[in-house]
Amino acid sequence: MTGTVRHFVRTFLLLEFLEAMALTFRYMFKPKTTLNYPFEKGRLSPRFRGEHALRRYPNGEERCIACKLCEAICPALAITIEAEPRADGSRRTTRYDIDMVKCIYCGLCQEACPVDAIVEGPNFEFAAETREELMYDKQKLLDNGERWEREIAANIAADAAWR
Ligand code: SF4
Ligand code: SF4
Repeated sequence: MTGTVRHFVRTFLLLEFLEAMALTFRYMFKPKTTLNYPFEKGRLSPRFRGEHALRRYPNGEERCIACKLCEAICPALAITIEAEPRADGSRRTTRYDIDMVKCIYCGLCQEACPVDAIVEGPNFEFAAETREELMYDKQKLLDNGERWEREIAANIAADAAWR
């Protein structure tokens, strides 16, 4: 059978159409590879670098000791810290801002922190409509820490063997 005749027969018998329908039916009964976001979400690595958070110790004390290593290492100059000693002599921040528009989510602040205070948590749903909303202050970061502490602590524990 020449190529032209074969093409005619395939077209006349709608073979390509039937093959396409068979392919469709085959995939109808396979597990879906798509997710019904936002009701279903994919698995995230413990190393996922999402929205920042400042953590507290279990007794409620802030972890951050205002050493400013995160501010120094940030390649985007997105972190601004001011600090002063408390009455008990401990050093704590009075201002901790992150400009999330400047941030490139490199994770260096988290790596530099000696007390696991600043971390990039698992939250990736923090889109905003204005730039002002992405200027995070200390209270916002501490609130994030409280909201995500369970997931953050589990991620740090899961990754601990490789750190
Ligand atoms: S993730 Fe990187 S760019 Fe963003 S604040 Fe931390 S060090 Fe800076
Ligand atoms: S978050 Fe960590 S690295 Fe940054 S100032 Fe506080 S203790 Fe230092």
